[in-house]
Amino acid sequence: MTARLIDGKAVAASLRAEIAARVATLRFRPGLSVILVGDDPASAVYVRRKDRAAEAAGLAAQTIRLPAATPEAALLAEIRRLNADPTVDGILVQLPLPPAIRTEAVIDAIDPAKDVDGFHPWNAGLLAAGRPALVPCTPRGIMRLLESSGLLPAGKRALVLGRSNIVGRPLAALLLAADATVTVAHSRTRDLPAECRRADILIAAAGRPELVRGDWIAPEATVIDVGIHRRPDGRLVGDVAYAEAIKIAGAITPVPGGVGPMTIACLLENTVTAALRRRDVLPS
Ligand code: NAD
Repeated sequence: MTARLIDGKAVAASLRAEIAARVATLRFRPGLSVILVGDDPASAVYVRRKDRAAEAAGLAAQTIRLPAATPEAALLAEIRRLNADPTVDGILVQLPLPPAIRTEAVIDAIDPAKDVDGFHPWNAGLLAAGRPALVPCTPRGIMRLLESSGLLPAGKRALVLGRSNIVGRPLAALLLAADATVTVAHSRTRDLPAECRRADILIAAAGRPELVRGDWIAPEATVIDVGIHRRPDGRLVGDVAYAEAIKIAGAITPVPGGVGPMTIACLLENTVTAALRRRDVLPS
């Protein structure tokens, strides 16, 4: 038996259609501003995708492109301008930033009410306290994938591989809030394969190509692969050795077409949420 495929593309398409239908009922267009500093090609691709998806959903999207040599003070001034602009509901600064700019200073400068990436310490703190407001898009997308596939985390043993502020940490908080028993593994974890083998839900976000092997997976486990890497031969792979994993897992996300599309859909959803909250249509 091979694992059931969790089709992130299809789930994301229906979420995007739902969001577009909701936006069409509003008397205003929620505004999303994305700032891209420098010319990292992968970042440029992501930003173009976000911009197109936002426009397709009926949002008012703008991308602000700044040169790689932009001083930190100038970027902070741009963020302050967007914070004060009433037509802007969501602000996203594409990461990574050039090394001369302090990422934390930039994240801290974004108005938490417009922080559609959910990285501001205010939003991270609310999530850790079990009172989620604007939640990071990739973890939120993963939770939606699990829900829409009927793979509910309640009572399950979940292993989150990776503890970044972008994926691992917020995802662990969301899984805990969904009543899973959560373990967070990282680069200093002893006997990672054994930890993985105990998991009913295994989420790989280590940023290491094909780190998770088939024999690290419990029979019938759910495997969510967050990683995305291009091999020298051009092939895209995740953090999981897919060909091995599909023979053991019960359900698995492909790369590409799994988690990636959900991230953008959840960014659109966060922008609409921020817009409604800022106008007191939703409780904050
Ligand atoms: P990161 O590098 O910030 O964090 C990686 C984490 O994995 C760290 O906590 C580290 O301790 C742990 N780790 C690294 N090597 C390990 C090892 N050998 N054993 C155990 N733990 C190890 O990465 P990130 O930003 O969280 O992203 C993780 C992956 O997810 C990357 O491949 C990234 O490209 C991908 N990603 C995908 C999306 C998407 O939308 N699909 C979004 C964000 C990130």
